[in-house]
Amino acid sequence: MTENPRGTCLKNPEGVARDLEPRRAGANGTGRTDMATVAFIGLGNMGLPMAVNLLKTGHRVIGYDVAAACLEKARVAGAEAAGSAAQAVAQADVVITMLPTGREVREIYAGSGALIGAARRDALLVDCSTIDIETARAVAAQARKAGYDMVDAPVSGGTIGAEAATLTFMVGGEPEAFGRAEPILSAMGRAVIHAGPSGTGQAAKICNNMIAGITMIGVSEAFVLAEALGLDAHKLFDVASKSSGQCWALTTYCPVPGPVPGSPANRGYEGGFAAGLMLKDLRLAQMAAMQSGAATPMGAEAAAMYALFCNSGRSGMDFSAIIKMIAGE
Ligand code: NAD
Repeated sequence: MTENPRGTCLKNPEGVARDLEPRRAGANGTGRTDMATVAFIGLGNMGLPMAVNLLKTGHRVIGYDVAAACLEKARVAGAEAAGSAAQAVAQADVVITMLPTGREVREIYAGSGALIGAARRDALLVDCSTIDIETARAVAAQARKAGYDMVDAPVSGGTIGAEAATLTFMVGGEPEAFGRAEPILSAMGRAVIHAGPSGTGQAAKICNNMIAGITMIGVSEAFVLAEALGLDAHKLFDVASKSSGQCWALTTYCPVPGPVPGSPANRGYEGGFAAGLMLKDLRLAQMAAMQSGAATPMGAEAAAMYALFCNSGRSGMDFSAIIKMIAGE
């Protein structure tokens, strides 16, 4: 899949819907059996398959999305469709948002028709979007002031992880709120990690993706240099994967076709994690670095390189395609 523009949905939710036989509660490995009414707001590339996994584990899902096509796909998949965010959250035990940026998150939680106030006071609020830390903390503080438990819980694993319920959730919030969120998030993921207080889930997400962006550029430069020196790409892979150059960008997500058959390089850099999303996360990391005073010169360079790459009209390609730009293509 290419970059996930706003308002886009999964290509074949009907395929997802066929697999809607509810799994027995607890089949996700948590051993817990509580079924909840979950309001799910933002049913795009990530939100829809996540909501489908909640349905599969027996939860009731009430969905809302501004894009009518996304809402319809959720309805076909077994969710109840609400006419507004406020309507979706009215009966919910848990509210999950999966929105593009901090702007939409602020608007949904605290703007007109705000979710804070419309949701029951005992509802748990969970924002799974990747957004700036400042917004995550501000929204959580507003929620807390109004009497809600809230966590930021961004994810790693992409659309494949969202479909397979193998996401990693990085959760920021009070321990009690984390305890409430953990069984719900476990229905959609493989790992649910409490990162600390509000905002630290977002911090974990952008630090992790800054590592991925920087190392992908480093690995790409090494393959380009190897080619210039007459060193075969497979030979470089054989050596570096068993030496100090070993890293995820090399051994799992190799940017040249061949050494790792499953990497996006083998399918024309389609699908995977879009360069535009990597740029978004690198910019969030730079914003956080500036606000906190941390020095991240390699992160800044990675953000600049991904901006150049995206500006060349390739933001929809997988982020490992940056090797093309480094190679001068
Ligand atoms: P997407 O654009 O496919 O989905 C977002 C959905 O939110 C859209 O359907 C849009 O119509 C809806 N929306 C926007 N404003 C709304 C509003 N006010 N009310 C209700 N719905 C609204 O994006 P996505 O790929 O699903 O990503 C969602 C979040 O997850 C982003 O923050 C992204 O950075 C993060 N993320 C994405 C991936 C990925 O591989 N796609 C991986 C990890 C994290």
